[in-house]
Amino acid sequence: MALLEVSSVSKSFSGFMALSNVSLSVEDGAFHALVGPNGAGKSTLFNVITGRYPPSQGSVRFAGREITGLPTERIIPLGIGISFQRARPFQSMTVQENVALGYLALQRKTWSFRLPLSAYRDALAEADGVLEWVGLIEHRHVRVSELPQGDLKRVDIAVALVGRPRLLLLDEPLAGLSRGERQQMVRFIRERLRELGVTLLFTEHDTDSVLQIADRITVLHQGAVLAEGTPEEIRGHPEVISAFLGEEL
Ligand code: ADP
Ligand code: MG
Repeated sequence: MALLEVSSVSKSFSGFMALSNVSLSVEDGAFHALVGPNGAGKSTLFNVITGRYPPSQGSVRFAGREITGLPTERIIPLGIGISFQRARPFQSMTVQENVALGYLALQRKTWSFRLPLSAYRDALAEADGVLEWVGLIEHRHVRVSELPQGDLKRVDIAVALVGRPRLLLLDEPLAGLSRGERQQMVRFIRERLRELGVTLLFTEHDTDSVLQIADRITVLHQGAVLAEGTPEEIRGHPEVISAFLGEEL
């Protein structure tokens, strides 16, 4: 069954077609990669799925329910977690506080600075649960500004996992990481996220990493779907290769 169904979605920005008639189906439990050069429309599609931008045309269904045009704060609680291309946890807060804040946002609760954080017991418990999952529990009281880049990205993923979403959207989870951190992140995605049973839609430029993680790949090019298939099928796809992947595959 498809958990996420994007049907004939187009998005134009003052006449410029960032997405043209894009259809994409993410099966329940799949690790699905969205690849394509810079400007292909990958982040725009994530923004349409999560309601940041309404599509100009087409529809998005999640878990059998039409979510097109719903605002982000209604979509996320349905079970979608997102980590944007640029991870921006609050630097002056601890790892645990950042995740707890994500939980409060999900509950549409506001944060009163007059209350100590310990007043938010549920949020802290949920934060610790998620930090356990992502392997950051021992860093929970560390200020985010003191973390290396790779852990920063994991904090952002932890925030996205708050509320235990069925679908996780990761926009370039390996961007800005060192070689060692990338390998760690690939392992984390392949092993930890699989164990959690979450369905994943992610974007990534590094072909090797994509092939290590994905069991399905959609190729976007200039806002349109150029190809879709298993990693094997995409590797052997002549149009994809001639379009931009070149010798990388
Ligand atoms: P990708 O994530 O694949 O690199 P994007 O989705 O960020 O690509 O961008 C696709 C195209 O849409 C780019 O040409 C970009 O400049 C344009 N675009 C994205 N967001 C906006 C926006 N808010 N306003 C105008 N143009 C945009
Ligand atoms: Mg992008």
